[in-house]
Amino acid sequence: MFGESFSLFRVLGFEIRANVTWLFLALLITWSLAAGFFPFVYPDLAPSTYWLMALVGMFGLFFSLLFHELSHSVVARAYGLPVGGITLFLFGGVAEMEAEPKTPRVEFWMAIAGPIASVVLGVAFFVVAVTMEGVGVPEHIAGVARYLGFINFLLAVFNMVPGFPLDGGRVLRAALWHWKGDLRWATRWASLMGQGFGLLLVALGVVSFLGGNFIGGMWWFLIGLFVRAAASAGYQQLLTQQALEGKTVRRFMTTDPVIVPPEVTIRQFVEDYLYHHDFDVFPVVRDSRLLGCASLRQVKSVPQEEWDRTRVGDVCLDCGEANTVDVRTDAGEALNRMQRTENGRLMVLDGDRLVGMLVLKDFLRYLQIRSELKKA
Ligand SMILES: [Zn+2]
Repeated sequence: MFGESFSLFRVLGFEIRANVTWLFLALLITWSLAAGFFPFVYPDLAPSTYWLMALVGMFGLFFSLLFHELSHSVVARAYGLPVGGITLFLFGGVAEMEAEPKTPRVEFWMAIAGPIASVVLGVAFFVVAVTMEGVGVPEHIAGVARYLGFINFLLAVFNMVPGFPLDGGRVLRAALWHWKGDLRWATRWASLMGQGFGLLLVALGVVSFLGGNFIGGMWWFLIGLFVRAAASAGYQQLLTQQALEGKTVRRFMTTDPVIVPPEVTIRQFVEDYLYHHDFDVFPVVRDSRLLGCASLRQVKSVPQEEWDRTRVGDVCLDCGEANTVDVRTDAGEALNRMQRTENGRLMVLDGDRLVGMLVLKDFLRYLQIRSELKKA
């Protein structure tokens, strides 16, 4: 989602990443603090002072978002749920859960942990601000801590809005789920609330844009669109997971994939395979055993005059975990992986034997037909 992310560091065993869009947010925040907010609240200081305050404010916000997401991740891990890592992006942060919570209780504690952490941090920043003022630190320096205290309260309040996938929406879902014992029904209502809240933000954005607040208006408009899309995607994802429940990769794979025998020359490979099929990677197979993978990259590593003498079996490389999946893997898990890694084709293995090919298109077709039949 939203393009490239890069890894920053690890905290408590979680990988922390920042999306490229976060850089944009960081710049926007620093600029609006230095040129707008701080000069307005504390007038008549040097511009360099404002920029320094803004920089500290931006790093404080980064820390606050991280603290919020870390608290979700720590609780998730305590309940045995795998967490992929934490990514900060344009609209804040997201802790990447690789599985949904199994009970309403787990969901409740995982969701509420974030807002609680933000309130605690907010109080801590206010205590720091008051202490600084008490010992005679200039008002504007204590003001940065005061600003961060306020931001953390704002984070807690925004996240407690009862619309899925916000934390408050997850708390709502946990409550409904606990009440009726039906996860699907609970998700549907929490998601509808989230979509409604998203639309409300969009409307708010339009109104403030028309009222002359261009940047603020656009900001609310975009956040609203994002919340709405995420709310509806969360429900769809649950339906998908339920449709695939209990099924393995075997159910969805193609059993006669295109394979390349190792004796084929590079020239034949180019003419009969690369030009003929719309695939990036081809399995090289002898007696149903997977020997390796061949792609355009290996072809380019061989000079053209050697193409008739070199065989694919001599240049193919290990397929790597990114291109293979075990035949017993849970179908929902495989689908998640394909969407996350944007790899639409996986070679299905049983030991070292290639037994089929898993294609994202087939998965989506199955889900499409299933949902059409449900409507009928
Ligand atoms: Zn949260």
